[in-house]
Amino acid sequence: MDSSQFRTAAHSAIEEIANYYDTIAERPVLPSVSPGYLRPLLPDGPPEEGESWDKIQADIEKVIMPGLTHWQSPKYMAFFPCNASFPGLLGEMYSGAFSAAAFNWICSPAHTELETIVMDWVAKMITLPECYLSKGEGGGIIQGTASEVVVTAVVAARERLIRRRLAHMPESEEKLDKAAEMRGKLVALGSEHAHSSTQKAALIAGTRFRAVPAPRSSSFAVTASALRTTIDACIAQGLEPFYFTATLGSTATCAVDDFAGIATLTSDYPDLWIHVDAAYAGSALVCPEYQHLCAPLAAFDSFNFNMHKWLLTNFDCSAFFIKRRRDLIDTYSIAPSYLRNEFSDSGLVTDYRDWQIPLGRRFRSLKAWFVLRSYGVKGLRGFIRNHVNLGVLFHDLVAGRKDLFTVVTGPEFALTTFHVNPVPSSADAGGGGGGAANRPDARHEAWTNDFTRDAEAKYREDANEITKEVFERVNVQGEFFLTSTV
Ligand code: PLP
Repeated sequence: MDSSQFRTAAHSAIEEIANYYDTIAERPVLPSVSPGYLRPLLPDGPPEEGESWDKIQADIEKVIMPGLTHWQSPKYMAFFPCNASFPGLLGEMYSGAFSAAAFNWICSPAHTELETIVMDWVAKMITLPECYLSKGEGGGIIQGTASEVVVTAVVAARERLIRRRLAHMPESEEKLDKAAEMRGKLVALGSEHAHSSTQKAALIAGTRFRAVPAPRSSSFAVTASALRTTIDACIAQGLEPFYFTATLGSTATCAVDDFAGIATLTSDYPDLWIHVDAAYAGSALVCPEYQHLCAPLAAFDSFNFNMHKWLLTNFDCSAFFIKRRRDLIDTYSIAPSYLRNEFSDSGLVTDYRDWQIPLGRRFRSLKAWFVLRSYGVKGLRGFIRNHVNLGVLFHDLVAGRKDLFTVVTGPEFALTTFHVNPVPSSADAGGGGGGAANRPDARHEAWTNDFTRDAEAKYREDANEITKEVFERVNVQGEFFLTSTV
């Protein structure tokens, strides 16, 4: 394909993409294909002779579209959103055009410098404490996903602790042995409701993982006292907690851990790396009404949210902010001769390869830059507030049907969790409150107060069962897509 053929092909592709967005709401969200649907529709191997773009493009509608789940559909209600926008899409186009690995500043200065500037813009926009800006010891980097960020933070936290503990020892076999011995005793912590990425990161880092309790009585959030109790229990067992994921917007209920309380613990546990995972809800920090959550972050080590989840930036764009970039560089900077150059050696430039696990990196800051400039901070605030208001409307509609539903949490950051009320059974009558039929509003508060333990367990089981049945029926129809949690 030469540039003139590209021009024709690209115009046709853009026409098709614009039509797709114009008609997306009319399509069922879920495809109705069975596992393995695609193989019989494609040849066994690549064509010997190149094909025309017309022929390739026709297969989008014919074989790809029938198997697509339409994440950008307004009827998509599953997991968390994965927003896209036309400015973000244009950023992806240019990034594809300038295709480069850009791991060092010298590999493409614009890649690096735009990323540093855009991350500073984002930090200021969401009012992160100044320590996360690049003008001091901190800064921001764009990575692919929140899980990738958690692995990056966990490994850096592990190595930071080892460096601190063994700083007195000269480089030697003995020091390596000591470090290996330490690693086996290290424990990464996260709320029992933290995303599974913390557990996965601990596995990858070869450390242990412990969950910090976050019960319903604390609104599914980790409190300072629960964290202290877990840390002290680990220490009493001869283990060493070195890392904690604090969550801003947990996956199941959008709970926010007690940042202010947890910040008061940092002087007692100075070697504990605290990372804030705000994968979804972090985007809400563009609105002043949520920015009170940011002040305690000055006491923590790192912060992350996915601009691709709720800030109109096409996948992937995970904004990772670090208070002391040295903590990453001291772990990840390994410079064989082929990666060295006069600019890196001068110390005047940022080489993002030293802040991450992979070497090569995409030009992701372009799409974030386009989005920030196209919408402006006001536009982004309006976008988030509209979703939050729709979330309140949804909550009120559900809460208004107490005969059918019970709200469990929310609305928090546009997320409401609810269950379908089980049909009253004779077993319910065992409780002091007189059974489901007599509960005044069928809310959890009522049944946790009024029921005996057995009746409550039975109620939960029945509620889970009927809720599962209802959402599975909704999903099977394919028009909407919902997710559940237990
Ligand atoms: N953290 C939280 C709170 C999440 O809800 C999710 C996914 O929904 C993740 C992390 C993982 O996100 P990613 O796909 O960016 O790894």
